[in-house]
Amino acid sequence: MTEPRDVDAVVVGAGFAGLYAHHRLRQLGLTLQGYEAAADVGGTWWWNRYPGARCDVESMDYCYSFSPDLEQEWTWSERYATQPEILQYVNHVADRFDLRRDIQFETRVTAAAWDDAAQRWHIATDRGDSVTARFCIMATGCLSAAKQPEIDGIDTFRGPTFHTGRWPHEGVDFSGLRVGVIGTGSSGIQSIPVIARQAAHVTVFQRTPNFSMPAKNAPLDPESVAARKARYREHRQAMRESRAGVVVPMPEESALSVDADARETRFAAAWETGTLYGMVSAYNDLLIDRDANDTAAEYVRSRIRDIVADPEVAERLSPRNHPFGTKRPCLDTEYYATYNRDNVTLVDVRSTPIVELTAAGVRTTTDEYAVDAIVFATGFDAMSGPLLGPDITGVGGTTLRDKWAAGPRTYLGIATAGFPNLFTVTGPGSPSVLVNMLVAIEQHVDWVAACIAFLRERGVGAIDATVEAEDRWVHHVNEVANLTLFPTANSWYMGANVPGKPRVFMPYIGGLPRYSKICDDVAADDYRGFTLTPASAPEPAPSASRT
Ligand SMILES: Cc1cc2nc3c(=O)[nH]c(=O)nc-3n(C[C@H](O)[C@H](O)[C@H](O)COP(=O)(O)OP(=O)(O)OC[C@H]3O[C@@H](n4cnc5c(N)ncnc54)[C@H](O)[C@@H]3O)c2cc1C
Repeated sequence: MTEPRDVDAVVVGAGFAGLYAHHRLRQLGLTLQGYEAAADVGGTWWWNRYPGARCDVESMDYCYSFSPDLEQEWTWSERYATQPEILQYVNHVADRFDLRRDIQFETRVTAAAWDDAAQRWHIATDRGDSVTARFCIMATGCLSAAKQPEIDGIDTFRGPTFHTGRWPHEGVDFSGLRVGVIGTGSSGIQSIPVIARQAAHVTVFQRTPNFSMPAKNAPLDPESVAARKARYREHRQAMRESRAGVVVPMPEESALSVDADARETRFAAAWETGTLYGMVSAYNDLLIDRDANDTAAEYVRSRIRDIVADPEVAERLSPRNHPFGTKRPCLDTEYYATYNRDNVTLVDVRSTPIVELTAAGVRTTTDEYAVDAIVFATGFDAMSGPLLGPDITGVGGTTLRDKWAAGPRTYLGIATAGFPNLFTVTGPGSPSVLVNMLVAIEQHVDWVAACIAFLRERGVGAIDATVEAEDRWVHHVNEVANLTLFPTANSWYMGANVPGKPRVFMPYIGGLPRYSKICDDVAADDYRGFTLTPASAPEPAPSASRT
């Protein structure tokens, strides 16, 4: 147990967001204390070590842009980097910028309580640490609270079980085993082909088929890497100015304004790009018009039929219950083709739900499937989940859990009224999971750093979003979402994968450039929509020697 002490800021989490927060806040001369539940840096890439785990935004875009030197010295080996390579990159960044020095690992923040008189957060951990801080930065991630399956008999199963988001570091050898995989979101779609190549048999339990497109992954050739590096700065600027933080052409036409042949040609070209955003942005109305969307959905279904030999299996793999792109689409390597293997069986648990796990396997309403090991690819309690893990108490003893009981409420996805000086990096109400998250993270952390610098310069002790600004923002987030097809899908964006979770569309869909401009305008207008309270005690002058 360490002595209670005071720092300028606590940073919770040491993934991409937490590490960048350390870097930026240290530049301001702040004293910092970081906490991270994992044993080392990396966040998502420390936890998700399942076979086949990779990014689905291209590696050369899915990395920090804050340091041109870093950008030049690091070279990715593949178009879509594997988890080990991304983790290696994060470690390189942590070493290069000495980012571990203020972080205590294997330590989970369990509580944060605001003291209005002292204008400080009191933060407690599961290791008995207690620290006070002017600012609390929640860099806890959008996809860090693994969603455990809620299936009867889970302790009855006699074989090993693995959650993709909590994968053993030593890896798992499935050779000769019959493996059950429950879940066909991104993690399932990435891992199933790899597991199927090793295991004796794989039974996939699918509730909702997802739209997936081929990643067309390949080693990066040195010429294209050199060409990108030669104009990386320009490219980064273009990324920041793009709706999803990746540079994608944005066509002007509707899918319904052209004939079927023209559409087929455009979709075929988009399919071949091997990118997440290629298909969804093939026409300008795929995410807002159901008829237009149906054309893209049907195109993907036709490709599934082309690949999967058994028409019944192809039909079971074909999404029909949600519009294309309204659940996070996936990029895969040989996913659909995997169902042509003799050792892979697909079970549709929407029509025959899982009843329980037995000692020997998985029992559905109609059959029992004997398996030796089970993989839960059941995803995450997304976005709000990690923020509602610790007991966070704001002004007047209000808890964040109570405040968000009907769904998260934030101003700009970065602050929540009644919780002064608490910043949420890529929180609900920000573009976050709808965009290249590295761009979103850097934008947020830069904004927070600039805000803290402003507060210190002006002698402000507490900044708190007003309820009115928050209400307007929540209304705007919903208004924009409701212009699209997104809220029609039972997705994790809506909290639909967690029983009892309020159905609220959590990310801001207005696009990064628009969102960044709103954030910049708020800052330029002396933090419009926030209440600024003078410091109750003079702030020590920022000093580089305090770093
Ligand atoms: C398998 C997978 C693939 C992905 N691929 C992409 C991709 O290609 N492109 C993309 O843009 N995004 C992708 N994402 C999203 C990914 O989460 C983000 O890109 C990014 O890594 C998030 O960084 P972060 O620092 O915000 O959060 P995280 O990386 O989730 O880090 C948060 C950290 O906070 C810690 N933490 C949480 N609560 C506490 C607490 N109370 N106390 C202490 N520590 C705590 C967690 O242990 C975790 O390490 C992917 C996600 C997954 C799961």
